[in-house]
Amino acid sequence: MTLDSDSDALDVRLRSVLDPKTADALKRAFGHETLGDFLSHYPRRYARRGELTVLADLPTDENVTIVADVASVSERSMQKRRGSLLEVTITDGTGSLKLTFFNQSWRKNELVPGKRGVFAGKVTLYRNERQLTHPEYKLFDDEADAEEIARWATAPIPFYPATAALTSWNIEKAMRIALQQLGGVADPVPDEVRAELGLLSHRRALELVHRPDDDSEWARARRTLRFTEAFVLQAALLQERHRLRSHMTAPRLPVPGGYLERFDAALPFTLTSDQQQVAGEIANDIAAVLPMNRLVQGEVGSGKTVLAVRAMLAVADSGGQSALLAPTEVLAGQHLRSIVALLGPDLSAELMPTILTGSLPTAERKRALLRSVSGQSRIVVGTHALLGDAVSFYDLGLIVVDEQHRFGVDQREALRLKAEQPPHVLVLTATPIPRTVAMTVFGDLDVSTIAELPAGRAGIESFVVPLAEKPLWVNRVWQRLSEELALGRQAFVVCPAIEPREAAEGDEGPPAASVVAVLDELRRHPALTGRSIEALHGRLPSDEKDRLMRAFAAGEIDVLVATTVIEVGVDVPNASMMIVLDADRFGVSQLHQLRGRVGRGGLPGLCLLVTHAESESLGRQRVDAVASTLDGFELAEADLELRHEGDVLGSNQSGARSSLKLLRVARDGDVIADARRLAGGVVDSDPAFARHPALAAAVRRRLDERERDFLNKT
Ligand code: ADP
Ligand code: MG
Repeated sequence: MTLDSDSDALDVRLRSVLDPKTADALKRAFGHETLGDFLSHYPRRYARRGELTVLADLPTDENVTIVADVASVSERSMQKRRGSLLEVTITDGTGSLKLTFFNQSWRKNELVPGKRGVFAGKVTLYRNERQLTHPEYKLFDDEADAEEIARWATAPIPFYPATAALTSWNIEKAMRIALQQLGGVADPVPDEVRAELGLLSHRRALELVHRPDDDSEWARARRTLRFTEAFVLQAALLQERHRLRSHMTAPRLPVPGGYLERFDAALPFTLTSDQQQVAGEIANDIAAVLPMNRLVQGEVGSGKTVLAVRAMLAVADSGGQSALLAPTEVLAGQHLRSIVALLGPDLSAELMPTILTGSLPTAERKRALLRSVSGQSRIVVGTHALLGDAVSFYDLGLIVVDEQHRFGVDQREALRLKAEQPPHVLVLTATPIPRTVAMTVFGDLDVSTIAELPAGRAGIESFVVPLAEKPLWVNRVWQRLSEELALGRQAFVVCPAIEPREAAEGDEGPPAASVVAVLDELRRHPALTGRSIEALHGRLPSDEKDRLMRAFAAGEIDVLVATTVIEVGVDVPNASMMIVLDADRFGVSQLHQLRGRVGRGGLPGLCLLVTHAESESLGRQRVDAVASTLDGFELAEADLELRHEGDVLGSNQSGARSSLKLLRVARDGDVIADARRLAGGVVDSDPAFARHPALAAAVRRRLDERERDFLNKT
């Protein structure tokens, strides 16, 4: 492929533009290799003019940046401790502020009265006086050119994500040089789209985001760059979607009197209408010559697994195999058991569902590998061990991924490569995904939703136990637990930590509840005498975890004290109570998932969310949100709002995080939707981007970055 010469400007190595020392420091600190990498290191914020003048009104506990002159300097030794204290007073003509440095008396050589500089730090109050302790600063040195000094006085000052070795000012200076050296930059966003939305050219946007003359300039620049980011991301996803659909695969059709028909005939319930709808979508997809790529979202217990098994049976009818990928060994084990239970003894014997995980003993592992490669086993269930080189299939027709958020695009891709022809892919998730997130993270998938739960669920009641206000209610929690057990039911107690930990300095509130400490407490609790109480957590060997889960499912254990290993998929109908300790330490969707472990059978579920968080805190708001509704979609939206920022995309969801710089999924839904529509137009008319070389280059850069990111993690 020949690249437009213009788009190469961003691919120039940093080392050929900056001095080697700075280039290497940037690579070490942020992984920047090219000019394009560096230029997309955008300022985190800009110091505003207003902050610079009103020294007297500086808010405490806030990070401020101030341009001011050094007024006076004094040094004294401290009274109680060894060492010296350097006190510097700065002024901007309207007010003054004290800076303090401990044991850094050398600074008096540079902080001499009359020097002007920019000072940044957190304002603290000491003896009723505002001060900055150990601020970052940069002095305008005498030889700095007049233009720069003038800029400092009027232009917004960019502040960059920085490290101790590479300060924001170093970065700013390097940025100035990089921009001076920058050749022509072609626009990844086609002209007509830019015109429609009133966007700047890419080059202009890069200049203004780093060196704005006023606030409106950086705001416009960021708007352009944010859209560009969304546009390139959507173009990449839609191109991938197009690519996945461009290879033919084997259609998978059930046969009369085959496995699927026998399964349906024996199913003890009828599918809900949502299930029927989604089952129809899946059946159509896999009966086609283009590979399916479908995400099915539905609450825990909404009946996704049944649909996945039906798809596996249609594949088996056509002579193929299916692989089910689970996030943990516990879940893989549980999936295998529930598949065997659903299939019943005859179909199980014929289809030979097999488990393949990292911890299988060698002999069993050999047997499982053989069954997989020979095609004898039509259903292979496993963890990421299935991705390993040793595993191969006879005819892999379908990949089912359970709980997508632990498996990224890269893992799906690795498994896809194990099939001769591209397999159909079905992704299941119990985490409801807001539309904008689905578009961003799963833009290459079609989405089906199961909204209704099968009838006959008794429901779940949720309560917050607010220990900050009602410390004594903790006794009531264990009392209630003992009452529930007295009815012959079982319970989970979930803790954020495994081991107790000493409270460390700077910790807020008491240390997190731990499995070890709570297990000990409950075993000794008078209300729970004679109950079987066991601990389950990720550090146990997997056969031990498996044994415990099985014993719990069989009713031999009354209470499981656990970490979130029990989060997903665990299915014990007799478990009716879920107690989450320090619930504020969990995310909204995690709490919702945990709650979904109970109330699954005919028994009403009870979920107690125990927290020490104060009533206005963010943690408490999350807990309150979960207690207030059972609707997972509502919660997903609330969650997105509570997070404000873009950590919606876990890095292993798609590798997308590294490439999302200005785009915030929580906030930029409209931008994403526009970008998807407009990028769709380009992909439809020019799927290889042959007539859009700059877009092709931007997509390639994005993939490179993702790849680097992925390699760094493995
Ligand atoms: P999910 O995978 O979405 O959590 P499952 O497929 O495991 O849900 O279903 C949860 C439970 O409900 C299983 O015991 C399953 O057999 C049962 N189930 C599924 N669909 C129905 C239905 N339409 N009517 C009654 N029970 C159902
Ligand atoms: Mg399931």
